[in-house]
Amino acid sequence: MKKPIIDYDLCIGCGSCVEVCPEVFELKDDGKAYVIKAEKCSTCNCEDAASICPVEAITLKD
Ligand code: SF4
Repeated sequence: MKKPIIDYDLCIGCGSCVEVCPEVFELKDDGKAYVIKAEKCSTCNCEDAASICPVEAITLKD
């Protein structure tokens, strides 16, 4: 199962990953997206979140 990793130097807090995959990602008060439940990745297709990120901040690791 792949785990999404967010590069916080790149993330601009646009919220797109949260819209695509709200079970896995959450926007926090600091304006960055965080992975809250990586194990949910298998059910909500984080490939989409990675590809929709406008700054390519999300990578999927084994
Ligand atoms: S889609 Fe990318 S830039 Fe937007 S909040 Fe998620 S990780 Fe950050």
